[in-house]
Amino acid sequence: MSQVARTEKGYLCKRDGSLMYLVYESEKTTDNKLKVVISYKCPVCGFKVDGESIELSRLKDSFTIVRVVRKIPV
Ligand SMILES: [Zn+2]
Repeated sequence: MSQVARTEKGYLCKRDGSLMYLVYESEKTTDNKLKVVISYKCPVCGFKVDGESIELSRLKDSFTIVRVVRKIPV
């Protein structure tokens, strides 16, 4: 089911045709990881589609990065 429409300007909300903007949300999880979620949000109805998430874990002398890219349901 398509929830957004892709145009050359960006993604449009299917409910009201508004141009959606990018939101970055970062949170520290309890097991000392940093998680960043990048999503598209409609400024009118608040509808949100998750696009990508990046999870950063700190090891003794390195970092592990897990990146998940979701397909936007256009
Ligand atoms: Zn909307």
